[in-house]
Amino acid sequence: MNADVIIIGGGIIGSAAAYNLAAKGVSVIVLEGSSNIGNGGSTRNGGGVRQSGRDPRELPLVMYAIKNIWPNLSEMLDTNVEYHQQGNLRLGSTEKHRQILEGLTDRAVKCGLDVRMISGDEAREINPYLSDAVTCASWCPTDGHANPLTATMGYYKAARRLGAHFISDEKVIELKKYKGAVRQVITASGNVYEGDRVILCAGFESRAIANTVGIDIPMQHVLLETLVTEAAAPMFWQMLGTADADFYGHQTEHGSFVFGLNSGLEPYAKPGKPLSSSIAASAACRGIMNYFPSLANIKVVRSWAGWMDSCADHVPVISKIDEVPGLIAACGFTGHGFGIAPAVGLVLSQLATDEETAVDLSALRYDRF
Ligand SMILES: Cc1cc2nc3c(=O)[nH]c(=O)nc-3n(C[C@H](O)[C@H](O)[C@H](O)COP(=O)(O)OP(=O)(O)OC[C@H]3O[C@@H](n4cnc5c(N)ncnc54)[C@H](O)[C@@H]3O)c2cc1C
Repeated sequence: MNADVIIIGGGIIGSAAAYNLAAKGVSVIVLEGSSNIGNGGSTRNGGGVRQSGRDPRELPLVMYAIKNIWPNLSEMLDTNVEYHQQGNLRLGSTEKHRQILEGLTDRAVKCGLDVRMISGDEAREINPYLSDAVTCASWCPTDGHANPLTATMGYYKAARRLGAHFISDEKVIELKKYKGAVRQVITASGNVYEGDRVILCAGFESRAIANTVGIDIPMQHVLLETLVTEAAAPMFWQMLGTADADFYGHQTEHGSFVFGLNSGLEPYAKPGKPLSSSIAASAACRGIMNYFPSLANIKVVRSWAGWMDSCADHVPVISKIDEVPGLIAACGFTGHGFGIAPAVGLVLSQLATDEETAVDLSALRYDRF
C-alpha cells in the first residue's frame, strides 16, 4: 500500500499527526503494532497538560498548544476531551522543596510563563483541602488537565473521518531506503508500505526501528504507574504535583481522582507487558494523604502501568533526519508527551509537508547528542 506519509505508531502523537495531515488533504497510513489504538502511554497517562516544570527546550511547544489548540480541541475533534484549565499547584513542604520549586519557577519565568511561588496559606486559599504540611508551592494558572483516552481516541476518529487509514496489528520491523531516501516500511507480517515521508512515533520502539537505517536515538524504557479512586463529590479542578514528583494528579469530571506516582523502583520493572506493582500505589497514597488528609478514606479502585520512552536528556526528539531524507522522528517524550501532543501533531504535519513549523524545533533535533 502507498500513501504520501506513513506514520509508525498509533498513539496520540501518530493520531494527531494523521489528523493534521489528513486535514491538509495529504494521504496517510498509520501502522499500529498492537491491536489497540492508543495502547501505549497515550491512554494510560495522568492527563497533565502543564507548562510549569518543563524543560525550556520543550516549553514553547506546550505553551503554543495551551494557547492555541487545547481550548478548542473538543470542538475541533467533536469529542469531549475534558480539558480544564484551572491551574497547576506544585506543592512543597521542606526547604529543599522550596529550592527545587524556585529553580523551576525562575527558569519558566525567563521563558515568559506566568508562574510564581506562593506560600502554604496562599495555596490553601486556592485549594482548601490541602494540609498544613504544605509550606510553599508554585502556581501556574494557565496549566490544566484533560482526559487521555478521549483525547487520543478523538484524534484517531477525527483523522479517520478526514480519510486517514489506520491499520492495527501491523508491527513495523524495518525501514528501507531507495536512492538514499527512506521509502519502504516493512512489517512483521511481511507487508510493505511505501511513502514519500515516514513519521516514526512508536515510543521506545522507535529506537530499534531507526537503527535499521543507521540512526540511534538514546532512550530508556521506564515504567510509570497510575491509580484511580472511586468517584467523590467535586472538590477541586487544579492539576497537582509535588516538588519531589512523588505523585501528581487531579479530580476527573465524573469525580474519580487519578494520581500518577513513582515508587523509585521503576528502573527494576520486569520487561514486557507493563504491570503495576503492589509497592507504588501504597507509596503514593502515603504522599497523597500527607498533603490531602481528607482523601484518606477514599477507595483506590484500580491501578495500571505504562512504559515511557525516556530520552537521555529528558526532552523529546522532534526532527527531520538529515542522513535519511524523508524520515521524521518524534519520540523520547520522557513521560510528558500528552500535554504537548496537539502541538507536536501540528508541527509533524508541517515538517512532513516542508512548511515552516509553528514553533522553532531546533533544540529538539536528533543530532544534539
Ligand atoms: C503512567 C503514565 C503517566 C503519564 N502521565 C503524563 C501526564 O500527566 N502528562 C503528560 O504530558 N504525559 C504523561 N505521560 C506521557 C505520555 O503518555 C506520553 O509521552 C505520550 O502518550 C506519548 O505519545 P506517543 O504517541 O509518542 O506514544 P505511545 O502512546 O506509547 O504510542 C506509541 C505507539 O506505537 C506503537 N508501536 C510500538 N512499536 C511499534 C512497532 N514496531 N510498529 C508499529 N507500532 C508500534 C505502540 O503500540 C503505541 O501504540 C505519562 C505516561 C505514562 C505511561
